[in-house]
Amino acid sequence: MRLRKAYIPTLKEAPADAEVISHKLLVRAGFLRKLTSGVYIYLPLAWRSLNKIANIVREEMDRAGAQELHMPMVQPSDLWQESGRWDFYGKELLRFKDRHDRDCCLGPTHEEVITDLIRGEVRSYRQLPLNLYQIQTKFRDEIRPRFGLLRGREFIMKDAYSFDCDDEGADVSYRSMYDAYWRIFSRLGLRFRAVEADSGSIGGSFSHEFMVLAETGEDMIVSCTSCSFAANVERAPVVWRGESCRQQCPPVELTATPGAHSVAQVCDFLGVQPQQLIKTVIFAVDGNPVAVLVRGDREVNPVKLKNLLNAGELAIAAPEQVREWTGAPVGFAGPQGLHAVMHVYADLELRGGTDWIAGANRGDMHVLHLNLTRDATVTAFADLRVIGAADPCPLCGAEIETARGIEVGHVFKLGTKYSKALNAVILDEQGRERHIIMGCYGIGVSRVLAACIEQNNDADGIIFPPPIAPYDVALLNLDTQNADLCAKAEELYAILQTQGLDVLLDDREERPGIKFKDADLIGLPVQLVLGGRGFGRGMIEAKDRRSGEKAELPLEGFAAAFATWREHVLQGWK
Ligand code: ATP
Ligand code: MG
Repeated sequence: MRLRKAYIPTLKEAPADAEVISHKLLVRAGFLRKLTSGVYIYLPLAWRSLNKIANIVREEMDRAGAQELHMPMVQPSDLWQESGRWDFYGKELLRFKDRHDRDCCLGPTHEEVITDLIRGEVRSYRQLPLNLYQIQTKFRDEIRPRFGLLRGREFIMKDAYSFDCDDEGADVSYRSMYDAYWRIFSRLGLRFRAVEADSGSIGGSFSHEFMVLAETGEDMIVSCTSCSFAANVERAPVVWRGESCRQQCPPVELTATPGAHSVAQVCDFLGVQPQQLIKTVIFAVDGNPVAVLVRGDREVNPVKLKNLLNAGELAIAAPEQVREWTGAPVGFAGPQGLHAVMHVYADLELRGGTDWIAGANRGDMHVLHLNLTRDATVTAFADLRVIGAADPCPLCGAEIETARGIEVGHVFKLGTKYSKALNAVILDEQGRERHIIMGCYGIGVSRVLAACIEQNNDADGIIFPPPIAPYDVALLNLDTQNADLCAKAEELYAILQTQGLDVLLDDREERPGIKFKDADLIGLPVQLVLGGRGFGRGMIEAKDRRSGEKAELPLEGFAAAFATWREHVLQGWK
């Protein structure tokens, strides 16, 4: 492609709403334009990269025996009613009515549609296993679309669905997707981790997330320094190995704590440590109040709470709700008497103490010497807190470490959740009816593009891993008025293309400085600079965008010299 004719509108400034580097760079480097919140136009450069990502995904899915199809984006509500998700999915599901007043939605995912397809046509175990996938636009009306392509409302996903007769078969399908994902993210040139994404089942987990490691990642992941345990912090179990404390404690005592509503303020005021406090957090769970108790120095893990309660919508209660439900402003809620108005769940660790300090459900008041079993009613004790850096590995007890990541893929063993709801059955070898065992497997294709930039950039712009770069080579002609240079540029442009490379030739009538800046900003892995003194000596300058390393290559015998040098650049990515 010749830049003179290309539509690559680079910008000096990033848009004001861009918070993360991938969003800023994608807009500045002429890849992306916003249409409306969370909805973007992929300009030609982005589309080339997205296609490269999609093709790698496609090749590895095909290699794993999956077959590509393409399902509609518009889905009828009936199927969602059948699965029970019409009510459960909440506001992320964009619903509308057609001209006949029929409820429809834009597909955020396709379990319902694919299960409906299969139940109508697959009747015998002989037709299984099957794995069907698509690369398609999804719509999710995200509560907070942000970070450009990382969390859009409309985005591109590869979603695959496997169908097996029995559990063993389903596990084989799952493993084969896990392995395919490993190959995909390796081929894409990303540094990543696969982490457990299922809370309850340590050891036998059947959900894994693939995380691109990046400091700007929304997800925290935790891994063991000794064994193979790696999990999303959201879901990482905390094993409590302590014993229930039975120590006596003095009677509860009210104490004034004027203006002290945070743990830190209460500690300052009373001269105590956060570990002596119970923090009472009030949630609105599907509109109803629920209290969660954790130690003062811990954080509640809302995902664990959501799973425990099998809840739909879950949020920290608004200040008015807290006041209405507890009778006190935010910061003064406590376990005593709360069970009369709401369920009270306590983190396991709270069993290890008796003499607690907690809110008194009265403004500016706390209680001392609270014994949970004596002075309050707890609905249940459960693992409800976020794992901390000081916690031991839940599997082997060794030290853990944390890192930030961006979830780019998710493999999930669904079991019979959808086949039961939609009654997708087959006849097995013995002629018995069985529900099909399903798995689903997603990759955020458009999120991968952004995640790759979060991981690979510098002050000058994007640094594309070679497999994802929209073009392989930037060829800069520094002086388009010079006929010799132009002829040479054309010659090299042709040579590179015969080597099977995609080339972006900067043939614009612009100052060299602008060409250098744009080349760095767009971030193609290799730059070739034609012009200046080197050209007089029959040389061309080559630059490795990642390391910044430069080399002079001879124009005589260029093809071979370039191929060798480029191989060296590619090695640097390995
Ligand atoms: P998240 O926790 O980030 O919301 P999710 O659990 O909702 O993700 P899945 O339903 O597993 O995501 O979707 C499969 C993949 O689609 C994810 O791994 C991610 O890469 C991508 N994805 C999900 N939501 C978005 C979004 N809003 N924008 C871009 N990509 C997304
Ligand atoms: Mg989501």
